[in-house]
Amino acid sequence: MPSKLSVRDLDVAGKTVFVRVDFNVPLNDRQEVTDDTRIAASLQTINHLLERNAAIVLASHLGRPKGKNVFEMSLSPVADRLAELVKSPVRFARDCVGAEVKELIAGLNPGEILLLENLRFHAEETTNDADFARELAEGCDLYVNDAFGTAHRAHASTEGMTRHFSECAAGMLVTKELDFLGQMLQKPKRPSAALLGGAKISGKIPVIESLLKSIDTIMIGGGMAFTFFRALGLNVGASLVDEELLETAKRILDSAKEVGREILLPVDLVIAREISNDAETKIILPTDIPEGWMGLDIGPKTIALYSDVLERSQSVFWNGPMGVFEVSNFAKGTMEMATAMATATGRGTITVVGGGDSVAAIAALGLKEQFGHISTGGGASLEYMEGKPLPGVEALSELQRS
Ligand code: AMP
Repeated sequence: MPSKLSVRDLDVAGKTVFVRVDFNVPLNDRQEVTDDTRIAASLQTINHLLERNAAIVLASHLGRPKGKNVFEMSLSPVADRLAELVKSPVRFARDCVGAEVKELIAGLNPGEILLLENLRFHAEETTNDADFARELAEGCDLYVNDAFGTAHRAHASTEGMTRHFSECAAGMLVTKELDFLGQMLQKPKRPSAALLGGAKISGKIPVIESLLKSIDTIMIGGGMAFTFFRALGLNVGASLVDEELLETAKRILDSAKEVGREILLPVDLVIAREISNDAETKIILPTDIPEGWMGLDIGPKTIALYSDVLERSQSVFWNGPMGVFEVSNFAKGTMEMATAMATATGRGTITVVGGGDSVAAIAALGLKEQFGHISTGGGASLEYMEGKPLPGVEALSELQRS
């Protein structure tokens, strides 16, 4: 994949720079930001631009207002929090396009920040409307995308508007994501491993197929393990199975053998008759699931086996929980793997987490600081790992090497 222009390569002094950020943060019912991780994550790019005397126009979506002006999804509280974090005033525009916005952008001086109102208050953002995209770009000289979480969507602010700039660069967060995920995809330090779990096997199949090209050992956990077990002819009781993907699962196991990669399935399981902390649980072999029982977590032998692989690996990619981790009886597998990955990171293993539920497990254990890279975009990181081009990245200018 060609390298993309970075914000570091731009000559921004005195210019007005449009930056697509990901400020999709949770707000409580008093309109207060309850988790500012995403705002803080954008500071590196914002400070870089401020130090170089650029005028900054920031734009983001928040929630799913579906083209309507929804008070509860206003970015106004984000402007206040950003001002605190950046220690500099942040102006707020009550819309993202229109005459008032144009005036505010025209009046913006170098070193000043303007945050636009929620892009998705206009349906034209997600439909990638050409006129809306042109209007968004008006008054700005350069474009930067630092919102990895929406890079897999061809929206007006991630794709359409890039046509109106001669230089479109990746922000520092996006560059970091591409560096870490790209390394895992193309030339992971070996031996390399992937730990894949979760329920939606349909979304993970293309990821497994893509990772078979570069990763030595793929460890499967979570609900999707049962489609593989079923494909191997085992009875899985009431466990989650995607009947339509049995053939695909079989094909994947066969092709792993052909290319000399290892796919590991759980060697023991925690089962119950219902997803509840009150339900009776048993630890059994995958061949012994009784009728009416479901596999809801990996068992202790699997934890030991997978931890052993982690210990021997130089790089590891993780996506998806090992069990129904929202219910404490079935959380052990996920939590133990998170801990084992944190320990591996401490020993120098490159660990990359593909967003989503795995991040929630890591956060619950307070281990966030102990991982190599935690992706800010669940959907985007999975699509990238599938080897799919991300429209928001493709649209950026290529780095011209001299
Ligand atoms: P995904 O969005 O595909 O990553 O799936 C995440 C969800 O998978 C979580 O909500 C887990 O509760 C669920 N999950 C994990 N393991 C199992 C399992 N063995 N059976 C049913 N659901 C599971």
